[in-house]
Amino acid sequence: MLARAGDPLGIRCRFLDPSPEAPAGRVGDLVVGAYEDPSVLDRFADGVALVTYEFENVPVASAEHLADRVRVLPPPRALEVSQDRVVEKRFLESVDVPVAPWRPVGSRAELTRAVAELGCPAVLKTRRLGYDGKGQYVIDAPADVERAWARLGDASLVLEGFVRFDRELSILAVRARDGATACYPLVENHHAGGILRRSLAPAAAVPPALQAEAEGHARRVLETLDYVGVLAIELFQVGDRLLANEMAPRVHNSGHWTIEGAETSQFESHLRAVTGLPLGGTAPRGVSVMLNFIGTLPDPVAVLAIPGAHLHLYGKAPRPGRKLGHVTVRADDRAALDQLRVRLEPLIPSDPPGGH
Ligand code: AMP
Repeated sequence: MLARAGDPLGIRCRFLDPSPEAPAGRVGDLVVGAYEDPSVLDRFADGVALVTYEFENVPVASAEHLADRVRVLPPPRALEVSQDRVVEKRFLESVDVPVAPWRPVGSRAELTRAVAELGCPAVLKTRRLGYDGKGQYVIDAPADVERAWARLGDASLVLEGFVRFDRELSILAVRARDGATACYPLVENHHAGGILRRSLAPAAAVPPALQAEAEGHARRVLETLDYVGVLAIELFQVGDRLLANEMAPRVHNSGHWTIEGAETSQFESHLRAVTGLPLGGTAPRGVSVMLNFIGTLPDPVAVLAIPGAHLHLYGKAPRPGRKLGHVTVRADDRAALDQLRVRLEPLIPSDPPGGH
């Protein structure tokens, strides 16, 4: 999606991916190799104008290795912050972005103490390499500690208070090389099994103060990291308050709707930012819903028979729990979108079991 957005701007992309099957290979040069291999990194970086990333588990050392040769944006520090939930929470708190109560957990005794302090329910998560709800365990009662520890206890962990949120939102923001920033409207996200299923954009019933609060959070994160590019912050709305769940230093699944539903897509915004071009507008065009295809694909004929539907297939082999593509439907107003949604949603197969 980045490469497609870059094409009309004259930006050509080369990709580094450990898999020869990486979908990016269809739209740009693909260098296949390990992120950790310096010779692969050098071959990849040879002749490129700059390097960016759209996956937050790129090793920081690899990003720094590349940064010795070529400009790397967003700065590798953003990777470092978002790869470890404890570092991330400390960082967010340091820039006045509230998060749920949390405790680092490194031992069984610390877990017992953390559960006593935060109360139940609470969510135990691995500090690193968790995504789409992987590496998580909900502790409903102190008796669950044993099972949670057996499941996750071989990693460094963090315990979070369970947030009884009204809804989940995300803010997508972009910062240019000259420090200019822009934000998209808040998006409302629905997850099942820890995986994003549906995004509604703009989120309904967002008072201006809530949008302003989210934008303030995003701008403080961007500025403190001297960030360049698109960044997403996943948020819980509790009453009129926002708590950050996590941040993603990259274009984000909850921003895929911007391809059809905003003046400038998140992919184009990211490329404009990192290449030093002026930012584009972030205003929505009407209202959009984005539905992910998880594990199984729908019938494309039925999906495209819905007015305003745009299909995006990633060309990945189907596997339970895997994001294989998405559809975005755009309409001029919410009433029109709701009518299309009730036709569209039954067409999307539910995830086959076994994804987690
Ligand atoms: P994560 O992998 O941290 O993005 O979590 C995946 C999903 O699990 C989130 O989008 C929420 O739906 C849910 N979740 C994660 N952390 C919490 C929490 N502390 N309280 C309630 N729900 C949570």
